[in-house]
Amino acid sequence: MTDTPSTCPYCGVGCGVIIESEGAQITGVRGDPAHPANFGRLCSKGATLHLTATAAITQHARLLQPMHRPLRGGPLQPAVWDNALDAIADQLTATVQTHGPDAVGFYVSGQLLTEDYYVFNKLAKGLLGTNNIDTNSRLCMSSAVAGYKATLGADAPPACYDDLNHAHTVFIAGANPAWAHPVLFRRLEDARRANPAQKLIVVDPRRTETAQLADLHLQILPGSDVALCHGLLHLMLWEGWTDTAFMAAHTSGFEALKARVRDFTPKDTARLTGLKEADLLQAARWFANVDGSSGASGARLPTLSLYCQGLNQSSSGTAKNAALINLHLATGQIGKPGAGPLSLTGQPNAMGGREVGGLANLLSAHRDLANPAHRAEVARLWGLDLQARDVPSQPGKTAVEMFQAAADGEIKALWIACTNPAQSLPDQAMVRRALERAELVIVQEAYSTTATARFADWLLPATSWGEKDGTVTNSERRISRVRAAVAGPGQTRHDWAIATDLARRLEARLRPGAATLFPYDSAESVWLEHRETTRGRDLDITGMSYPMLDAGPQQWPLPEGQTGGRARLYADGRFETDDGRARFLDTPFVPLAEPRDARYPFSLTTGRLRDQWHGMSRTGNLGRLWGHQPEPSVDLHPQEMTRLGLKDGDLVQLSSRRGLLVLPAASSDAVALTQAHVAMHWGDEVLQGLDAQGQSSGGINRLTSPVFCPISKQPELKHTAVKLQKAELPWQLLAAAWLCEGEALALRSQLQAVMGQFGYACCVPFGHEQHGVLLRAAAADAPPPERVARIEALFGLGPERTDALRYDDRRRHRSRAMGLVRDGDDARLQAFVLAGDIRAEAWVKALLMQRLPAQAYGRLLLMPDAQAPLALVPRGRQVCTCFNTSAPMIEQALAGTAGTEADRLAALQGKLQCGTQCGSCLPELKRLVKTCVVAG
Ligand code: SF4
Repeated sequence: MTDTPSTCPYCGVGCGVIIESEGAQITGVRGDPAHPANFGRLCSKGATLHLTATAAITQHARLLQPMHRPLRGGPLQPAVWDNALDAIADQLTATVQTHGPDAVGFYVSGQLLTEDYYVFNKLAKGLLGTNNIDTNSRLCMSSAVAGYKATLGADAPPACYDDLNHAHTVFIAGANPAWAHPVLFRRLEDARRANPAQKLIVVDPRRTETAQLADLHLQILPGSDVALCHGLLHLMLWEGWTDTAFMAAHTSGFEALKARVRDFTPKDTARLTGLKEADLLQAARWFANVDGSSGASGARLPTLSLYCQGLNQSSSGTAKNAALINLHLATGQIGKPGAGPLSLTGQPNAMGGREVGGLANLLSAHRDLANPAHRAEVARLWGLDLQARDVPSQPGKTAVEMFQAAADGEIKALWIACTNPAQSLPDQAMVRRALERAELVIVQEAYSTTATARFADWLLPATSWGEKDGTVTNSERRISRVRAAVAGPGQTRHDWAIATDLARRLEARLRPGAATLFPYDSAESVWLEHRETTRGRDLDITGMSYPMLDAGPQQWPLPEGQTGGRARLYADGRFETDDGRARFLDTPFVPLAEPRDARYPFSLTTGRLRDQWHGMSRTGNLGRLWGHQPEPSVDLHPQEMTRLGLKDGDLVQLSSRRGLLVLPAASSDAVALTQAHVAMHWGDEVLQGLDAQGQSSGGINRLTSPVFCPISKQPELKHTAVKLQKAELPWQLLAAAWLCEGEALALRSQLQAVMGQFGYACCVPFGHEQHGVLLRAAAADAPPPERVARIEALFGLGPERTDALRYDDRRRHRSRAMGLVRDGDDARLQAFVLAGDIRAEAWVKALLMQRLPAQAYGRLLLMPDAQAPLALVPRGRQVCTCFNTSAPMIEQALAGTAGTEADRLAALQGKLQCGTQCGSCLPELKRLVKTCVVAG
């Protein structure tokens, strides 16, 4: 077995992993104890990475060779790399020569490595001469970039993870790290254990797992964050808790902000945010942390802020970021251990993309496109000056603008790399118009199963985690090496190499005879050029090298001559502005762009699940990662469920101004009244349905709004005004089967064609060790019998399965098919299809999923009105992914344990082991310990 140190490809915590491999196969993964982000820990997603790289997944879900679709809507045909790149280069050249370079758009990804990003950025801005390159990081952190630059003068997170150990108050706003950044949350738990006096404030419209552990949960109205921050500043001023000496020495622009926050009295702030005045005062006191105000004595104690999409994904995202940073500047809570505003990046390398300037308005090494001197510097560094050329000055189209321009016919060619815009961008109707209207769509991907792949004219197979070589930067400015444990499968190639090969072909067509701008022969050769662009900049990494990073990750800046990176920025009070002073940003509170109203009375919020990652092209293949949330749902407050006449599982139609979506309702007291919550992950890879116009659902982003922050251009994915009504889809179908891994993957792919024929359909994997597939569908009217027969056949219950038990009532459009397999002296249910009547769902599902002896149930399996057998109790929701422990198992174990909460948790873990491996379920276990009573 070979060990290869690398980095987790999921969230921005950037955990170090050790990949275990044998020959060409990745066989295991464990946390890297030497990596300073995680010290050996991994969450449920990171700990299962090796299971996403099995031979079966490679065969059924990976893109293994270039593919061409000669006719739109037609089948794909295999292609040869050289021919594919030549044909694409020809088409791109023709597009540029006919319509100009701005007719081409590149949409790339925060999951690319820094080296990949660098080549794409240079290809677009340096070679083609268009700034139309943007990234899914626009959906993730462009408001954080704009907020930092507007206040601190540079896009540089000033704090680090270790600050959790020094902070006296941790202020988490618009983030749910318990689920979205779990290993960082483990570090917060450690810090709180070591310092029980540490205060935790959580600002979130939902009572998330993170909020449930807070000392103070500020359950604000969606979109009211700026009002909250202004209100807190008002209170700090009134109480004398600001740091006037720090402001006088190190900041500018406070007077205008001071005048603005005068109007944000506690009473008005409470009205705007939906919070209590007393809670506002408490939050202001704990944030300011002046002598005595936090209950501690001595000098001002440090406050650390962590924030993410709740502030960023907003039509006033920059204002929200700046308003929070204003609080740090007003209280001097920056540049010292335990203090500072630390934005959490959602993606593994959103930071690396920022460093190379891989956004439509940025240039390499934090340079600005709008600055002629910066453009000239980059032109020189890239060698453009030798060809008497400059970088174009016109800002490129940002993510939503780029797809809108393609939908309008302005952009003719789209090159999409390592991202799935047909799932993740808002306003999917517009995005799909863009993908259909563009004359050339190139999708460079590791997976063949994404929604976007269906729109591609060309599919170019890319390497993925475990196969790539390069670097990524995490949320605390720490650059880590990514290394290949195995070679990429099939004909996959590295992203930087694909971009380089295409760039050279474009050079030959557009600038014949000129020396190449892309002389790279390895990831390191790309990185060395990138490194040189940082010389003298705030993120100077000229003191780093691949060998140094191989020995251990480093934080930037690390200029030449220094031996280690800088943990914290601005310790000397000098900021990256012209006068060295941080700037207060006087920003108005602007209400939501699309507020709730009488027609759309609910505010729909979106967020991440604990065990899934983004569009789920990787995590979505593992049944065990579906145990915690087995199927999609819309979460509603229990009172709203009652008011709408809904019970758990009822199908609900959600409509926004842009489209509709059907989902099962789930009661949740984490969601406030007049709000609804849906996970961000559901695309039409798992969820489909037809609306009144016969359009397939397009997932959650069929509903969301393309409106964006005017400064950061980050769209408002966190709020959509919607209406809800019970969906009238009385005919229902439920099918499930155990299969081998390859068969399960193939079945899910085949079911894609069927799902869109129903008013609602979802298809998900299940199973911890084995591989199951579940299909749920519903329709207004019974479908033709052939459709049900088709589903039975796909689940292996077609006519050729002569031993299947069957019931068929054509008149009432009901049928059942049950496939049992012998298991010693008994039999087990291997597959079933319940059509037209799924009242037996609970016990039939339990029989199959728990692999219980089924022989005794005989014909009961076919009786529509059979009562649920007492012995068949559903297992319940999985809480611990590592040890496959369900909520009822935990509740039963806790009923027999007494003592303090810590004692009960320890006893529970001793008994069931839950929460003893990755720890992602610990917040939920602690909550269950609190709520489960000890049996009499
Ligand atoms: Fe990966 Fe989890 Fe670490 Fe994020 S917290 S980097 S998903 S292991």
